Amino acid sequence: MAKYKNPVLRKGGHKVTSPFGMRTIWGKKQMHNGIDLVGEGATLDYIIAFADGVVKISKYSLTAGEYVSLYHGNGNYTRYLHMKKGSRTVKAGDKVLKGQVLGYMGATGNVTGAHLHFDVNVNGKYVDPAPYLEGVKEFENTPNKVKDWQLAAIADGFKFPKYGADGKWGAECESVAKKAVCKKRVTYKYKSLTKIVQRAVGVTVDGKFGKNTRTAVINWQKLVGLTPDGCVGPESWKKLLGVK
Ligand SMILES: [Zn+2]
Repeated sequence: MAKYKNPVLRKGGHKVTSPFGMRTIWGKKQMHNGIDLVGEGATLDYIIAFADGVVKISKYSLTAGEYVSLYHGNGNYTRYLHMKKGSRTVKAGDKVLKGQVLGYMGATGNVTGAHLHFDVNVNGKYVDPAPYLEGVKEFENTPNKVKDWQLAAIADGFKFPKYGADGKWGAECESVAKKAVCKKRVTYKYKSLTKIVQRAVGVTVDGKFGKNTRTAVINWQKLVGLTPDGCVGPESWKKLLGVK
């Protein structure tokens, strides 16, 4: 009996009845954008959430039948199709946890028999769900470094009057970055910004821009080809935040 590391069926066992990819139906080639599963021993089972998320859609459609779409952040969606009529347990806007029951397997919509069609969509593109179910691939968690930096700068008293903390590097960021430069032998008062630097260069994160931090910054600047002055100015900030 096959078991997934990250199951979408509650009992855990499953059989793949149709994998992701091109398939021929009635002599026609079609792209199958998900994976079709039945329960262990071709039985039916409860359908559970693949990961924590928010319910985007929970409704009936002619082709998908009774289905649920979950959003997991950072452009990652999962969908659960052909549920049994009346079995959906969640509605749009609900927060769900990994493993939470979403409904029961059924044969609603355009199907020949009861099964779960499960699909994974990353940034608008359907991808093979198998490596995700097997735990080989995970949803990428890519936090917005610029936004984190803007929020830190705001915490330190800077302002982004026009656009706020919008996560994009623009003129307001340049202007703040110029003012947020540490000057040698002057106490650097920007604690939140200092913590970002300390995390990036791998020293104790205490928010104090002291000798250790400065030395680590100089070494880091040498490594990435910036002027090794120990001061974090616009060029260093951009490098630290991955701004091109
Ligand atoms: Zn399918």
